[in-house]
Amino acid sequence: MKKLLVSLLLLAVLVQARAGEGMWLPLFLKQLNEAEMKSMGMKMNAEDIYSVNKGSLKDAIVSFGGGCTGEIISGQGLVLTNHHCGVGYIQSHSSVEKNYIDNGFWAKSRAEEIPNPGLFVTFIVRMEDVTAQALQGVTAGMSERDRQSAIDRNLNTIRANAAKESYQETMIRPFYKGNQYFLFITETYRDVRLVGAPPASIGSYGHDTDNWVWPRHAADFSLFRVYAGPDNKPAEYAADNVPLQPRHFLPISMDGVAEGDFTMIFGFPGRTDEYLPAVAVDNMVNVLNPIRIGMRDKSLAVINEAMRNSTEVKIQYTAKQSRIANAWKKWMGESQGVNRTGGIARKQQLEADFQRRVDGNAAWKQSYGALLTDYKKLYEQIMPYAKTRDYVSELGVNIELFQLVSTLNRFITIYDNNGVAGFDARKPQLVSYLENFYADYRPEIDKQVMAALMEEYFNKVTVDHLDPFAVEQIGFAGKDYDVFAATVFAKSMLDDKDEMLKALESSDVFIQRLKSDYAFTLSRSIITHNEQKVLPEYNAIRTKLDLLERNYMQAQMEVFTEKRFYPDANSTLRVTYGKAEGYDARDAVNYRYMTTLDGVMEKYKPGDYEFDVPQRLRELHAAKDYGPYGVNGEMPVCFIGSNHTTGGNSGSPAIDAWGNLIGLNFDRTWEGTMSDLNYDPTICRNIMVDARYLLFIIDKFAGAGHLVQEMKLVYPKSKPAKKGKN
Ligand code: ASP
Repeated sequence: MKKLLVSLLLLAVLVQARAGEGMWLPLFLKQLNEAEMKSMGMKMNAEDIYSVNKGSLKDAIVSFGGGCTGEIISGQGLVLTNHHCGVGYIQSHSSVEKNYIDNGFWAKSRAEEIPNPGLFVTFIVRMEDVTAQALQGVTAGMSERDRQSAIDRNLNTIRANAAKESYQETMIRPFYKGNQYFLFITETYRDVRLVGAPPASIGSYGHDTDNWVWPRHAADFSLFRVYAGPDNKPAEYAADNVPLQPRHFLPISMDGVAEGDFTMIFGFPGRTDEYLPAVAVDNMVNVLNPIRIGMRDKSLAVINEAMRNSTEVKIQYTAKQSRIANAWKKWMGESQGVNRTGGIARKQQLEADFQRRVDGNAAWKQSYGALLTDYKKLYEQIMPYAKTRDYVSELGVNIELFQLVSTLNRFITIYDNNGVAGFDARKPQLVSYLENFYADYRPEIDKQVMAALMEEYFNKVTVDHLDPFAVEQIGFAGKDYDVFAATVFAKSMLDDKDEMLKALESSDVFIQRLKSDYAFTLSRSIITHNEQKVLPEYNAIRTKLDLLERNYMQAQMEVFTEKRFYPDANSTLRVTYGKAEGYDARDAVNYRYMTTLDGVMEKYKPGDYEFDVPQRLRELHAAKDYGPYGVNGEMPVCFIGSNHTTGGNSGSPAIDAWGNLIGLNFDRTWEGTMSDLNYDPTICRNIMVDARYLLFIIDKFAGAGHLVQEMKLVYPKSKPAKKGKN
């Protein structure tokens, strides 16, 4: 089967894919993509991008903190990533007196670089296709459970036998919905220090209004440095660790990017679902997205208002707010985009074609004939559970007390299973969690969020999925959600740090009080009810759907021989490529591919929460003082391209034809946010900050030119290096 799939993939190379679509595996670039990339203007070879034998671009790319991408841009371990990827760390070092969110932060020397406990970056040393070993002994007739245990056993063997150094790790991931498996050997560095960040008024200029939108004018970046032990190997934080000497770092092009130039994004895209049947996409964009959006509308109304009224709250809630708002706005764009471009109808057409081909071939008909009908039936069954699941999970995402309760509950389990001694052993961990939690916690905000979201829960969740205890309690509150939330907070110690820490002095007392705490009992009751009455049904159907999705993926690869298939994103290293290009957004609206500092000033609203511009930037603009970074009196700011990206690609480098950094990926355009479900090359564009704007902000705006000095600036177009390399 694996051979068949690989030869289908190879055969498909001959066929032109939709330009720009695809998140490709670095391992197969030579076979699948190199020719096309060169035809689009790339001057490198696949080996310059990914090689296990010599330093290649991949050695400059890191998974940043697990959810973003970063890249090494100096021989001394300097890492570039997005502001929105670093903001949680930037915030953790901020206070009203040292407000790095509003004022930015620039370390003037190594000694001023700030450590970030918990932050790590991971390099990929190499990847291998281990499908054959992973699926050894797996047969068609096996139950899902037996199949999974056979695979798990195989994966353990693969891990145990993988050739690697003691300081390296292994990771195996399924691809193509579980039809293929790849092994990754990785190196993780855990001493990563904050080096620099622009003020939020530059790093996330335009905030929620501009998020997911083009034209864009933010310099969404922050700088960190990876430190290693004296032997250049991964080491836990130590004051005398030294800056990492990377195998490769990205030179930065001062020649910038012109319309039509080849562009490539290298990073760790998080999750896409390009091969789902129409019914799944329909339910996602028309039923589930609206549920989550509705819940977040309510919590954001409360949080945004509070943040605008207090600088302290703004610092405390910056990272939380962005996490909630980012997905909220993306789902809106995604639902609109799929519907506006007829994405569901297009999938239905593809399915009709699939069915026709399958029905015309006896063997396919036998294996795949009923697949789509079965899928639809299961989808009908799962939806009532899926809806409740989303309502309840949104309670957990938005109400901080729910998050606290989940953590506390894990500690109760430790107490119940291992007694006081077991609990006491973990107590320091709990104390440090609580310190962190309360540092950024505002009960008065959370109380309002709870009132608003519980109203949704009680009114929108189907009656037989509601937790009876919660229903009884809202009855006692006379169905008044404010009274309800006020009572929960009044009758609980969870909103009071001092009381919690005091109670913790005696573990037994703490656990007893917790178990009878009103807020704790109520949230546990809602969550447990969901875990017992909703999730088992949901998971059982989900398992069947997963099996069908795996078969459908395999079937599509077999049936559509003329197509080239790339695996859905799964937070593993991928290459995506396209061109710097604008797009026709809607009737009569055409977007140019780049923005300039003039556009920042056009949006400027003095004193505004989202569009204020620091005075220094205004002055530089007024004087057109752009140093070597401007072009013909203009300062390029952002550009867009037809590169297929998703969340997780945040912080990925935009790379030119020669392998130099030309920009920093940070977002996608509004019309194209649906690209996770339904990539459309005509309107899906990723958004990047121009590398020259980053340098301008670091050097001219922030006066941190010492950082630019450790980078390597190159001129691949105007002063090309000999032998086509620089
Ligand atoms: N701005 C995005 C994010 O937050 C990046 C993307 O999805 O394109 O993940």
